[in-house]
Amino acid sequence: MAGRTATRQAVGLLVVVSFEGGAVHDVVIRGGSVVDGTGAGRRTADVAISDGRIVAVGADIGAARQVLDADGLLVLPGWVDIHGHYDGQALWDPLLETSSAHGVTTVVSGNCGVGFAPVQPEQRAWTISLMEGVEDIPAVVLEQGLDWRWSTFPEYLDALDAAPHAIDVAVHVPHAALRVYAMGERGIDHAEVATDEEVTTMARLAAEAVDAGAVGFSSSRSRNHVASDGRLTPSFSAGAAELRGIAAAVGRTGKGVVEINVDTANLDGDLELLVGLCEASGRPVSMGLLQRPGQGNRFRQVLDAFAAAGGKGHRLLGQAAARPTGLLQSLAGRVNPLAASTTFQEVYQTDPAELHRAEVKAKILAELSGDADLTSRFPLAFELGDPPRYDRPPAESLAARAAAAGIEVNELVYDVLVGGGFVYVPVSNYLDGDLRAVHEMLVHPCTIPGLSDGGAHCTMIADFDYPTFLLSYWGRDAPEELRMTVEWVVQQQCAATAALVGMHDRGTLLPGRRADVNLVDFERVGSTAPEIVRDLPGGGARLLSHGRGYVATLVAGEVTYEGGVYTGALAGGLARV
Ligand SMILES: [Zn+2]
Repeated sequence: MAGRTATRQAVGLLVVVSFEGGAVHDVVIRGGSVVDGTGAGRRTADVAISDGRIVAVGADIGAARQVLDADGLLVLPGWVDIHGHYDGQALWDPLLETSSAHGVTTVVSGNCGVGFAPVQPEQRAWTISLMEGVEDIPAVVLEQGLDWRWSTFPEYLDALDAAPHAIDVAVHVPHAALRVYAMGERGIDHAEVATDEEVTTMARLAAEAVDAGAVGFSSSRSRNHVASDGRLTPSFSAGAAELRGIAAAVGRTGKGVVEINVDTANLDGDLELLVGLCEASGRPVSMGLLQRPGQGNRFRQVLDAFAAAGGKGHRLLGQAAARPTGLLQSLAGRVNPLAASTTFQEVYQTDPAELHRAEVKAKILAELSGDADLTSRFPLAFELGDPPRYDRPPAESLAARAAAAGIEVNELVYDVLVGGGFVYVPVSNYLDGDLRAVHEMLVHPCTIPGLSDGGAHCTMIADFDYPTFLLSYWGRDAPEELRMTVEWVVQQQCAATAALVGMHDRGTLLPGRRADVNLVDFERVGSTAPEIVRDLPGGGARLLSHGRGYVATLVAGEVTYEGGVYTGALAGGLARV
């Protein structure tokens, strides 16, 4: 043990391990600045943990077998992220690293109506193609990673339960899977209307899933949600009777939520449907909320309608993103502006170092010149940089920088990409060229932090670090007039998210709650620049970044990350609600 302690000190970590005589607790986190998640102001206190639970917060709370020195650190509940897509990965990867490396201790999956249960054997390939198309998780990864030990949703939960986990994972029962399970091939076609009997079957299966521990039911009506064969997601135009029938059955269980992805292209119809889901279920309903291109500030009308529905006793919430949502373009990613050049393709495969040679660059740029400039589809494209910056003003766009330097924007895009960087293209939440719309959504009483999409969009979106961004940007780096208190951020991303999905045992640092805790160096907290790693089954690639400033993360009282390094602890599991 002494050797282990010495190793920690050698790499400059702040966690101290010691053994106190007369220990009464498993762990005491000593002397940190405790932000407990209730919204109360921070206070210097010790946090005592036994049997995976917080047992006391205060002064003089007794000795422990393990003491973590939190002097100078924030002591926060672990993040509870309600919008992930780890439905497959949670079966083969205990770490769920894109989330766990950012202090997330509970992640909810099965969002947006897609997932892998219930499923008939003949529908397995199709559920993979839907996940591949909707969430950009390569089919080869899922084909190699899934062992299909289940058919029903309760059996899927049991499979998740049996798999080792470093953090907690919970899941929704997804509409697409329910529909195809109940309707067979017909259900794949969103235009097919479910019969009364089929609606009854879906409703029964959804209730069965929630009774078995699913956090709720998810669906999607997004035109962007398309299977890899080009077909719209099966729930795209599912009728009100179908949705209300399922929602009502969930409601009869007395628990569960409804999560739905809606484009708001048909605002009145969509709002009517959402209110209808509240009426039918009596449960909270949340929807991805964005400032969408072509829709101006329609999100305000959505929020006004949610507030009005709240006045009638409904709980309608927008899941708000922590920043503009968009694409990360890169040489190794799915979206690569140089991919149309045959010379690029050849050189990148054979000898990527050649890309730095001036003649090769000129040849590739000449081949791409027919495409006008590489940012023409997205005029506001930025160099992401290291550390990554998601708040650059239009004056720092690649087009503006190229103009100022008197060079073609294509050349600048080339240099960023070949230099190993990312071109960041904000698509939603950036219509005004700043993050004010994001702020407006985040602070609205009818929103909750969401949409991080951990586990999805493997090589083109890296929003899994939203919780880190909420704390580092909105809690520290944002312009002063927009900055949020750490207490508020923590209350939102821990307690409010946990409460929404019915996990009342976590999200705050109060006696009796699960000991999911982050020790954070607030000055340092942030994200490393994303990189693409090939560690998914079948050699699949994904974007990965790590949280900085997370001195330690505890899951159920066990240190899971120390100084950003995974300890091997497997204290998480399936969280049944
Ligand atoms: Zn999603």
